[in-house]
Amino acid sequence: MQIRCPSCNTKTTWQENPFRPFCSERCKLVDLGKWAAEEYRIESSTQDEDQESNSQVIHDPQKEGEER
Ligand SMILES: [Zn+2]
Repeated sequence: MQIRCPSCNTKTTWQENPFRPFCSERCKLVDLGKWAAEEYRIESSTQDEDQESNSQVIHDPQKEGEER
């Protein structure tokens, strides 16, 4: 049975393939790395947004707008 590696789209075999559905250990690690990097990016960006929005609300007095 032949399959396509979801990471690099290379044809590979399902049987006797310890890295299936990937063609190689490298593709498997790349795919896992994508997931890990994406999760880390989403978590960190969410935290940054929360902190930024909070500080913006605090440091955004209406007096500034009235003076201008
Ligand atoms: Zn591959």
